[in-house]
Amino acid sequence: MIPHMAHCIVPSAEEILDKEYKVLDKGFVRLVDYLGGDARIVQAARVSYGQGTKSVREDAGLIDYLLRHQHTSPFEQVVLTFHLKMPIFVARQWIRHRTARVNEISGRYSIMQNECYVPACDDIAYQSTNNRQGRSTDSISTEEKQTVQSRFSDQQEQIFEGYQQLINKNIARELARINLPLSTYTEFYWQIDLHNLFHFLKLRCDMHAQKEIRDYANTLLEICRKTAPLATQSFEKHILSGVRFSEGELNALRNLLAGKESGLSGKELQRFEEKIKSGEQL
Ligand SMILES: Cc1cc2nc3c(=O)[nH]c(=O)nc-3n(C[C@H](O)[C@H](O)[C@H](O)COP(=O)(O)OP(=O)(O)OC[C@H]3O[C@@H](n4cnc5c(N)ncnc54)[C@H](O)[C@@H]3O)c2cc1C
Repeated sequence: MIPHMAHCIVPSAEEILDKEYKVLDKGFVRLVDYLGGDARIVQAARVSYGQGTKSVREDAGLIDYLLRHQHTSPFEQVVLTFHLKMPIFVARQWIRHRTARVNEISGRYSIMQNECYVPACDDIAYQSTNNRQGRSTDSISTEEKQTVQSRFSDQQEQIFEGYQQLINKNIARELARINLPLSTYTEFYWQIDLHNLFHFLKLRCDMHAQKEIRDYANTLLEICRKTAPLATQSFEKHILSGVRFSEGELNALRNLLAGKESGLSGKELQRFEEKIKSGEQL
């Protein structure tokens, strides 16, 4: 007979239920509910032996083993439900993660609030020249940044004024909203299991992800630390702060350990060096 897997209470998760974690200028993340935690992962993995939770140290060891060896199904037994508020351009990237369940506020039913994202001065940057998807580190004067901020808010005001005029004329909401900007805030419930949430975090906490979605991902990571602390610790150690080496890169590492030249050159060497340095950014 397998051990009972009754409702798991995680005190550190209970403490943050419904707490609003602010993100960007008007957004937030709230943990609405959770199903299971580290204990559930352990119970699920031990089903085959007919044993439940052991000492914290043994549980931590088992969770770490499961994560290192990609025994992913026990992590799918943990489910988190979030209430998220974010600009539509972030939500568009978010929604590409297909393994979650979503319920979003509808601009067909509801009147959209005049709430738009305006980046903070520190986040305003020129286009990067070496990364087409990124921002440059070249400095911009404070005056220029403030001009950019005003341009964003003036345009948003203007568009929302037009939207309100259409709503006042009783034009259908589903039409009135079609010119609203990507910076408009939207809200949705998002439910995902821990295995797929870790996959999301690996992609969206990464320096290559857009800064705005990264801010949300880092907040989710903080919530994971409260909900499944041992699993999240292993995830951070082995996956989030780890990198995958190709065959050539492994040969380069062997060469370097033997006191020889890496054997890599050009772009390959550059990518290798970037991987070695990537942990320093976290
Ligand atoms: C830095 C960055 C830049 C990006 N740039 C672009 C871009 O320029 N243009 C663009 O279109 N997208 C872009 N994306 C989105 C990216 O291509 C993925 O769609 C997104 O990251 C979701 O990843 P996923 O499919 O692995 O995740 P999920 O949808 O959460 O899926 C998780 C895993 O489940 C499996 N899976 C889920 N659904 C299916 C299915 N139907 N069939 C088979 N397997 C499935 C896959 O193994 C997948 O890896 C970018 C993402 C990042 C992180």
